[in-house]
Amino acid sequence: SDSVERHEFGAEVGRLLDLVVHALYSDREIFLRELVANAADAMDRRRFEALTVPASALAPDAKVRIAPDKAARTLTVSDAGIGMTKEDLAQNLGTIARSGTRAFAQGLEGAKAEERPSLIGQFGVGFYAAFMVADRVTVTSRRAGAEEAWTWASDGQGSYTLEPAARSEPGTDIVLHLKADADEYLEPYRLDHLVRKWADFITVPIAIVQEGREEAANQGTALWRKPKSEVTPEQYEEFYRSVGMNFDKPWATLHWRAEGQLDFSALLFVPGMKPFQALENERQSKVRLHVRRMFITDEAELLPPWLRFVQGVVDTEDLPLNVSREMLQSTPALARIRRAVTGRVLSELASRAKDAEDYRAFWENFGPVLKEGIYEDHERRDEIAPLLRFRSSAVEGWTSLPDYVARMRDGQEAIYYLVADDSGALASSPQLEGFRARGLEVLLLSDHVDAFWPDALARFADKPLRSVTQGSLDLSKFPAETAPADLPAGIDALVAAFKTALGDDVSDVRTTDRLVESAVVLSAGTGPDLQMQRLLRRAGR
Ligand code: ADP
Repeated sequence: SDSVERHEFGAEVGRLLDLVVHALYSDREIFLRELVANAADAMDRRRFEALTVPASALAPDAKVRIAPDKAARTLTVSDAGIGMTKEDLAQNLGTIARSGTRAFAQGLEGAKAEERPSLIGQFGVGFYAAFMVADRVTVTSRRAGAEEAWTWASDGQGSYTLEPAARSEPGTDIVLHLKADADEYLEPYRLDHLVRKWADFITVPIAIVQEGREEAANQGTALWRKPKSEVTPEQYEEFYRSVGMNFDKPWATLHWRAEGQLDFSALLFVPGMKPFQALENERQSKVRLHVRRMFITDEAELLPPWLRFVQGVVDTEDLPLNVSREMLQSTPALARIRRAVTGRVLSELASRAKDAEDYRAFWENFGPVLKEGIYEDHERRDEIAPLLRFRSSAVEGWTSLPDYVARMRDGQEAIYYLVADDSGALASSPQLEGFRARGLEVLLLSDHVDAFWPDALARFADKPLRSVTQGSLDLSKFPAETAPADLPAGIDALVAAFKTALGDDVSDVRTTDRLVESAVVLSAGTGPDLQMQRLLRRAGR
């Protein structure tokens, strides 16, 4: 009819669909997890909106309904969620950021088979998983607060249509016209099994509809509320997978209940693998806040940004169910919960750090993120510093500040470090020669954040941190084991010639006892460390 609009997919959607459908074929059952998760999210978002917009209120018996229809060969997932406007449909289901697709494609190429399904969730492309089992998908949606409804439809082949529709209540119906080889998703027992596997911890009720009868499919178990003794390792792992769309095993599982001054349950995980892109794009903690089991928001920033790799749930009795966004910012109870949860995560890291091999797995995934805490969180700085690990000029593998201090030479007053862009250049830097020759250990730093935190920490165990590129360091108290030859006659004339040639590009040219093999080295004089100067220059300062 006239009212049907046809639109081409955004340039990258076609390629993305192809990737999703082919690369993830053997895991195609996850389409149901993605659709149910979207439906439950939409209901949570509507409940949250209803706190300020009463017209958005959810009916008390609102559910996600999964309805197979064998005669029509369709599977419908319906929710009473926030819904989508016409623009939302076009934006959310018709376009995707170009960079997103490329990163996703690269992620898929680099990923092991068992890691691939988690990429779908991490890159926010879950909806497209529907095309793994369906050759046509229609989405009819009505935004809460709006009168009109729209239907989006596509066969996943380059274009989609939008047309006006009717829906008596706000919410969304997603209808999958199943492919010939996807019959299994018409079987209620199969759907029931999948919901139990993927969605048992979703607290929104999910029902499977069969010949007009509805059967509850999820338990809605608040696993975090159970005593530890009643939870099996398998249940923890399944919960971990469902909460963060993960496929690895958690490196750490923290489950505890605080009672007394504060009343909350927490179930938190440190992932065993590094998420493919989440950490770079997203700086806020996504730990979920529940109040008396009910999901409130994943934007309460329950942990500081430098612990953003931690996933899981905090459920408290100390907030009202209708807690608003403004309250989340300012309520003292939440500030106390944040402190307690942050402290608990740090003490877990401290205890696991005693086993170097075990801790290494964590450090190599998330160490650079933890380092941000040194300059972002003055209060926690002293707790974080001993948890850091470094490469060093003196030992193989990773070392720590306490270990460095224990190895310091008699009379050595400072902790020396060198920052450079790449770790290969570090070990062979001429800056190290004088220190090596004197048996002085230097920490070798090559993470992006390493230009920032040493200045913020300033001291550890009462020893100042000093960049070896700072010209003012006096090493004369330590005779070099391989002594540099006496300065040759005529050196003063050479230095003068250098000064003339370099002019204003340098502030000084000096002889040094800090080189053993190399002829010249750049020194930072009295200003900031060299790497810091490079970064400032790049930033145009
Ligand atoms: P993600 O959920 O990771 O963002 P998806 O491709 O699964 O990625 O969904 C894209 C967007 O479409 C969602 O972020 C959401 O805004 C919207 N959306 C999907 N399903 C629904 C639904 N059932 N109700 C309302 N909005 C939805």
